[in-house]
Amino acid sequence: TAMYAAKRSAAGGFLFFEPAMHERALQALSLQSDLRDAVRQGDFTICYQPIFDTHTRAVTGVEALIRWTHVERGPVPPDVFIPIAERMGLIGTIDRWVRESAIAQLLVWQQQFPALKIRLNVNVSALNLRDQSFLTNLEAIAQTSGFDLSDLQIEITEGLLLADSPATERLLVAMRKRGVKIALDDFGTGFSSLSYIDRYPIDTIKIDRTFVTRMLLQTRTMSILRNVISLAKDLDLDVVAEGVENEAQYEALAAMGCSHVQGYLFCKPLPAPALAAVLACPVMPLAPAAVRTNPSP
Ligand code: C2E
Ligand code: MG
Ligand code: MG
Ligand code: MG
Repeated sequence: TAMYAAKRSAAGGFLFFEPAMHERALQALSLQSDLRDAVRQGDFTICYQPIFDTHTRAVTGVEALIRWTHVERGPVPPDVFIPIAERMGLIGTIDRWVRESAIAQLLVWQQQFPALKIRLNVNVSALNLRDQSFLTNLEAIAQTSGFDLSDLQIEITEGLLLADSPATERLLVAMRKRGVKIALDDFGTGFSSLSYIDRYPIDTIKIDRTFVTRMLLQTRTMSILRNVISLAKDLDLDVVAEGVENEAQYEALAAMGCSHVQGYLFCKPLPAPALAAVLACPVMPLAPAAVRTNPSP
């Protein structure tokens, strides 16, 4: 119809330029059956992105991030397929596969680098945190593999589903008793960030990338960040700034006392073999302050 301006894509399919919502709906529809196949066939991989201590510059953790490369479309971002997986009831299987694979990978790294002290961060859909089976599964993994549950941190993205759930609250408390750490992901983007840190046993706040992107452009964003960081310090929580892309952002965050940083400036998410090279020398690859005080000739 006239609504659509279609053109042939390089891959031979059609690219539609149309209202964004409609496009998303179409895309979701055609992705559904492919996603089911991908889950059945195990077509996913995992990339790992290091998290650094701002002060010591050491790697203190790695975040496992799922990757799906579609045979025709190429890479499909998790922001696109995770919500579809949630609607289709596939997210339990997907998240379980990620955490089992990532735990196996961390065990390998711990053998390979005995001096390494890092935590594994995995993202978990709030849908998977509604009953105790999540913890039962983790305890089974720990039992059979020898994995130490205190080396694990789950990252929960706040959503409406997390709100007001006594079952989730019970689960989080039980997990924390077993040593599992809990991070609130994308902090500041949801409706109830403050009530979550009041109510749930949180160890870490992950400040959403959108704040980091805006901080040097808007003084009010800077104020928000400064106060969130000071709140975290007051509550004795770790605070990770996500999406740090340049030195100016890093230095401003460090000056505000942000305890941890993660972002392309330091390292992109990498497949396990490439990340092993980072873990072999687990310090910040860039040292912005040092670079500035020792100008090159
Ligand atoms: P997230 O957990 O907030 O992860 C951070 C996202 O920011 C990742 O996107 C990462 O690649 C990206 N990122 C890191 N540093 C930078 C930077 O400096 N600049 C920019 N522009 N981006 C940066 P990714 O891998 O596309 O994942 C998107 C989201 O998908 C994640 O956001 C998380 O909510 C979700 N996700 C990823 N893997 C899983 C999974 O295994 N299970 C679940 N349930 N969700 C997942
Ligand atoms: Mg995350
Ligand atoms: Mg995040
Ligand atoms: Mg996110």
